Amino acid sequence: MGHIRILSDQVANQIAAGEVVDRPASVVKELLENSLDAGATRIRVEVEAGGRKIIRISDDGCGMNRDDTLLAFERHATSKLRTADDLLSIATLGFRGEALPSIASVARVTLETSTGDPAEPGTRLEIAGGKILRVDDAALPRGTTIAVSDLFFNTPARRKFLRAESTELAHVTALVTHYALVHPEKHFDLVSSSHTIVAAPPVARAAERIYQIFGKDTLAQLLPVAAELPLERVGLPETPPWKRDPDEPPRQPGTLRLTGFFSKPELQKLNRNSIYIFVNKRLIRDRLLLHGITEAYRNVIPPTSFPVVLLFLEMPPEEVDVNVHPAKTEVRFRQQSWVHDFVRDSLRTALVKARPAAGFLAALDAQPTASPSLMPPAASPVPGAPGEALRTELTEGIAPPDSDPGAIANAEAFQLTPRTPNPTVGRLPFGAGGIAGKAFDQNRFEPGSFEPGSFDRQALSEAAAALLTPPDPNSNGANHCSPSPNGNGSNGSHTAAAASQIEAEQAAVNLNQLGSLKPLGQLRESFILATSEEGLWIIDQHVAHERVLFEKILRERQVEQAQRQRLLMPLLVDLKPEQMVVFAHIAEELERNGFEVEPFGPQTLAVKAAPVGLEGAELERMLAEVIEQSAGIEAAGLNEQPTKNEDLTALRTRIAASLACHSAIKINMPLDQARMEWLLLELARTNHPTSCPHGRPIALLYSWKEIYRAFHRI
Ligand code: ADP
Ligand code: MG
Repeated sequence: MGHIRILSDQVANQIAAGEVVDRPASVVKELLENSLDAGATRIRVEVEAGGRKIIRISDDGCGMNRDDTLLAFERHATSKLRTADDLLSIATLGFRGEALPSIASVARVTLETSTGDPAEPGTRLEIAGGKILRVDDAALPRGTTIAVSDLFFNTPARRKFLRAESTELAHVTALVTHYALVHPEKHFDLVSSSHTIVAAPPVARAAERIYQIFGKDTLAQLLPVAAELPLERVGLPETPPWKRDPDEPPRQPGTLRLTGFFSKPELQKLNRNSIYIFVNKRLIRDRLLLHGITEAYRNVIPPTSFPVVLLFLEMPPEEVDVNVHPAKTEVRFRQQSWVHDFVRDSLRTALVKARPAAGFLAALDAQPTASPSLMPPAASPVPGAPGEALRTELTEGIAPPDSDPGAIANAEAFQLTPRTPNPTVGRLPFGAGGIAGKAFDQNRFEPGSFEPGSFDRQALSEAAAALLTPPDPNSNGANHCSPSPNGNGSNGSHTAAAASQIEAEQAAVNLNQLGSLKPLGQLRESFILATSEEGLWIIDQHVAHERVLFEKILRERQVEQAQRQRLLMPLLVDLKPEQMVVFAHIAEELERNGFEVEPFGPQTLAVKAAPVGLEGAELERMLAEVIEQSAGIEAAGLNEQPTKNEDLTALRTRIAASLACHSAIKINMPLDQARMEWLLLELARTNHPTSCPHGRPIALLYSWKEIYRAFHRI
């Protein structure tokens, strides 16, 4: 008897589930994607115990008839793809036909769905561990509700890998947030044990959605970017002319489009978790694009810090292969380096153009934070945990998520804080589970007791009014089902106004005016004080000059005209043998920067000439620093397989940064008026007057508004 057997469908599904479903968040991901593919305009996600107990997703999408409902749970059953060729131009999020059977094989699932067609009854189906328990007709409104309970009830080994409820909930929240960001025109709700975590009625623009979900402070730290690039060719290589079907229309190359938001240099994160990349509305992880983003911020923020970036890339579906990974979180671009360079250059250009000025308060917070990711802070203390009250900040006019105003009265205690910290308006207890004003801020998420009687009535009535505002029926994306007529939600006009105001304030405060600042004098002979229309500026003279020199050195390096000066006496530098090896690597680059160095014995170098402005002890220190850094980088293997080019660019900027730092005006150095004016003018001419090559801020602005506010004049 042979040993090989064909696996039963049930086992095959459980194996597939191993790739597709590994935690509640991945179930939510698959179901959300199905709802979006079904053209839903309103999606509600409810979870209990972080999704370990139950995950329920309701949508108002196109629904399914009875036959399709049964088919949907078969392996490889999909409505989104027919031939393998369709894969080359897939426009839906799903296409593998694996999610529903996989989920149903490891959980108990109840599905209720209806196409809304009076001729077809709705269907209610129960399935557990892959076995259909019952199928009934049911009168249901158009749309689909799917409830997944007891995840991994029949695979205890997998259940053990689930993490704490709060962790799973955080993952679910991140996921819903991502999809809400990329579909501002749709209504998303996320509720955990009757606490609302995300409530996002439709809005017109991504900026408003950011405001809705992350709040004012986050939006105020982001700048918009938009760019496009016409492609020269598209998709797979053309079929040769002799094989081509003469009737086949020529392929249109299409366009690469990028929109999104990026953080000002003052906002720095310790990891990449706050970089979100969406390709054709699909959230992906991609090393190549991460690299492009990091490159854009090179020498603007420290190499160990990461920005916050939301990037929405749109390209013809032929340009990107989405069938790379079962969970569809990775993609392959057909023209990789185009996409990489496009992202890097667009971001870099946007950074240079925006030249954002750092505010005093922002700079205080600018230490890189280890926050796990850009998430609505509400997710961290587990809402719904016994005795935990979800405290949120009610932002004026943001609609409460719950569509039933009555829910306000009988839900658990809530605490609302006014939108701007204002000592005269206290916080107020509020019996409402349904109200979760959106602009959560983790920092303000402090535990506290209720202070009766200080509730902002206007905010509540506005919220209630928004709640009752009829939905915008036109808000629907291009999906593979027809639009749903029965969306619901607020028009978000308050959100729109608030978001626009924040954006306008952002745009107004930039460093273009640096050149016209009037220096008043120095503070401790280290910081230049200056004024402008905008307010009071403090400029760190050392880093300002460092930035000026850094860009000058790189410019001159490019045209190879670094100015050198002969030393009266050669400077002798002793090196250890391993340092000699490092030196050999960087000698050529040093020479291009104006050094003239010759060996002087086996372990000694003689520096005969150096770049203008670098002398004495600073010269010695600079050389030691560059050699040490280069040795450190080689030893740490940070340069693992860099391209030659990249390696050289990194070395070049490292040397330039070091040169600039050691030649720049020091702190504790008196400057006369002319010198201060000269420095500000030179700084204004740089590409990145925001931060020094090591990522420290250069200029802080104390705006008139802040000053007036501090003196209680507004
Ligand atoms: P895929 O999404 O890859 O097609 P799934 O297993 O996720 O595979 O779903 C199978 C099919 O079930 C889908 O192709 C779709 O036709 C249908 N379906 C799933 N969820 C929904 C939904 N929420 N609304 C309408 N149809 C759905
Ligand atoms: Mg799917």
